[in-house]
Amino acid sequence: FIHIQGVSKTFKEKEILNEVTFSLKKGEILSLVGASGSGKSTFLRILSGLESATKGKVLIDGNDISSTKPQNRPIGMVFQQPLLFPHMNVLENVMYGLEMRGKKKRENKRKAKDYIQRVGLGEVMHHYPFELSGGQQQRVSLIRSLILKPKLLLLDEPFSSLDLQLRRELRQWVLNVFKEEGTTVLFVTHDRDEAYEVGDRVAVLHEGRFLQAGTPEEIYYRPGSSFVASFMSDGL
Ligand code: ATP
Ligand code: MG
Repeated sequence: FIHIQGVSKTFKEKEILNEVTFSLKKGEILSLVGASGSGKSTFLRILSGLESATKGKVLIDGNDISSTKPQNRPIGMVFQQPLLFPHMNVLENVMYGLEMRGKKKRENKRKAKDYIQRVGLGEVMHHYPFELSGGQQQRVSLIRSLILKPKLLLLDEPFSSLDLQLRRELRQWVLNVFKEEGTTVLFVTHDRDEAYEVGDRVAVLHEGRFLQAGTPEEIYYRPGSSFVASFMSDGL
């Protein structure tokens, strides 16, 4: 479904990503873990088109995405910090992407309200971002992407600015919604517990190399290298 083939990235002769190759199944959630500076965000930026790869390609349903303009790619991205339009309320923020696609206004509103209710934000639907907590803002960011039904959703440490309690709640909530929607997700985190809990599979990135991908049990009990073993042992 999604094939990433030999993606490499060099910044000023420094190799950041080295021949990253793997596939994602439809509806799968893959957690990508790695230390700070291992190249996780760079990799997501390449997938979303914010940055170009030095080498390699990415196929979605057999189509090479480099031939599609970033804004037309069937890919959504959510960052560590919620990115909302400050002058739009929750409903308007969630509807924005649909409006851009020129769908019917009434239909958009109905859909947006439905998503907002599903994530428990019905009561703040007409509030502005500054009136929301960090967790609420991040939920809005997530449904704003989800409502566009991306073929691939990229999440770059979406919970890392939230406190532990909230992270747990959101994690569970996010999992349910993704599973219901059948969204294919690449979930970047440096938190091993989170990687194990959220991912159907977990992949380890180390100094720009893709070391191993497997189910949480495989990674934990049958690590492919001593690095994976020690890096992934605190968790599960
Ligand atoms: P973190 O967990 O801290 O978010 P990361 O795994 O997301 O780390 P990246 O942000 O992908 O890491 O960075 C990987 C490496 O690439 C780092 O050494 C960084 O300094 C370098 N890098 C990233 N963007 C650029 C750029 N535009 N120009 C030069 N070097 C860059
Ligand atoms: Mg990063």
